[in-house]
Amino acid sequence: MPVMEGRSVAARWKADAANRAQACRARGIVPQLAVVMVGDDPASQVYVRNKDKACKQAGILSSIVQLQTDCTQEELEAAVKKLNEDTAVHGILVQLPLPAHLNEERVLSIIDPEKDVDGFHAVNSGRLAIGQRGFVPCTALGVMKLLEAYDIPVRGRHVVIIGRSNIVGKPLALLMLAADATVTVCHSKTENLKELTRQADILVAAVGRANFVTADMVKPGAVVIDVGTNRVDGKLVGDVNAEEVEQVAGYLTPVPGGVGQMTIAMLLANTLDAAEQYGF
Ligand code: NAP
Repeated sequence: MPVMEGRSVAARWKADAANRAQACRARGIVPQLAVVMVGDDPASQVYVRNKDKACKQAGILSSIVQLQTDCTQEELEAAVKKLNEDTAVHGILVQLPLPAHLNEERVLSIIDPEKDVDGFHAVNSGRLAIGQRGFVPCTALGVMKLLEAYDIPVRGRHVVIIGRSNIVGKPLALLMLAADATVTVCHSKTENLKELTRQADILVAAVGRANFVTADMVKPGAVVIDVGTNRVDGKLVGDVNAEEVEQVAGYLTPVPGGVGQMTIAMLLANTLDAAEQYGF
């Protein structure tokens, strides 16, 4: 079964980002992404470090605003507002999840939608829902670009997505619809999940549970996209039981080295979109 490798596709996007960043710099604009990080959650620290490294490699200036775990909502919002006003900053993201005492929805709502490179602001979600141009959440966009890179058409295909989060499942369903797929979105209250997943030409797992998708849930020859990132005994694994599913699937994305790579590449692309549009 062919593996749908994200690393090499992401490398092409990263090279393109480096060219775009250089073109911006030649015009006197230094593209900049600011990441707001609250506390010291180890998984978030790894993600932030990876984003920082990818930005630097592409020639995008990366700044991290670090706040204490016990910071107040007001302090967090003040940090975001300061970045909104800073014309040298083109993209802003608030690393999630936030500590429980902070209101995630409220802080996302105050990010300037034109700097919202994660695409989580209601304005950008709305734009996506009605087919207007805006920032699209990086993981969902990365899945579409990965399929494109492998020449896998989605038009007319039945796409089944397990997961309906604002970050992955919902935006991906909207992108698939816009690309003329027939979309089924499943979640924890879905009945007869296996019956639905077995109908999928393209099956996407965005659940957050290791080994959730087993071979009996997959139609032979289907394309299986594993968005999940779970830690099991210190090892990173997806939502798909790869050992089993690779026996039946037509394609499978690996974890690591699949969708995660595309997510970071799309973050660079979104940051450059912001810099090119609003930087000069
Ligand atoms: P989330 O917000 O926790 O959403 C999980 C979704 O799975 C929910 O919609 C939930 O349904 C559904 N679900 C849970 N148990 C289920 C079950 N038994 N049957 C069917 N559906 C079930 O997670 P997320 O933020 O979307 O992330 C999903 C996974 O992707 C996580 O592992 C996360 O770490 C990973 N992720 C990876 C990347 C990347 O770059 N690779 C980026 C983002 C996220 P309800 O809505 O009914 O609760």
